[in-house]
Amino acid sequence: MQPPISSIMASHEIELLAQSLARLPGLGPRSARRAVLHLLKRRETALIPLLRALESVTENLATCDSCGNVDTTNPCGICDDPRRDVRMLCVVEDVSDLWALERSRLFPGKFHVLGGRLSALEGIRPEDLNIPRLFSRIADGGIDEIVLAMNATLEGQTTAHYIAERLESTPIRITQLAHGLPVGGELDYLDDGTLAQALRARRPMS
Ligand SMILES: [Zn+2]
Repeated sequence: MQPPISSIMASHEIELLAQSLARLPGLGPRSARRAVLHLLKRRETALIPLLRALESVTENLATCDSCGNVDTTNPCGICDDPRRDVRMLCVVEDVSDLWALERSRLFPGKFHVLGGRLSALEGIRPEDLNIPRLFSRIADGGIDEIVLAMNATLEGQTTAHYIAERLESTPIRITQLAHGLPVGGELDYLDDGTLAQALRARRPMS
């Protein structure tokens, strides 16, 4: 819990706005206050465009039934894109990882978002994640390569191995991201160059 914003705020409404912003990841009370002030000073160019963008996303927010991505359409823009190579599927833990890989613009295929990672400690089982849907997508056929782009954490690698084992008997090529990924590193925090290198140098799952 964030400590309450100090009561120097002008009104209850403004304080509520600052408190909501302060709860966002990466923002604390101080940067939230700064953001609020920015919005209040720039009603037409910042506050109203933000409001419209939030309204539009809120109305159309959808989780893609096919891949688990979050978008404003279902199927999502990536699943719906005919230019994507349907023979390649990149499996990631979270939407933030998909976004990180999309920023590199190097992966031409489609994605599958698990919505987390397996964890014995937290009791997270395959059926708690978007893993059954992954196997049914694979069973539909047409996929030649699966890139397991899990985080380089213990749970991420456990998840990758679980999926790879289940696919052992299929002819599908299973690869994973290569060097460049620091141990314990999370995809979303990597600079784009490191991530691009790891994707380019992906290797068969051992
Ligand atoms: Zn999708």
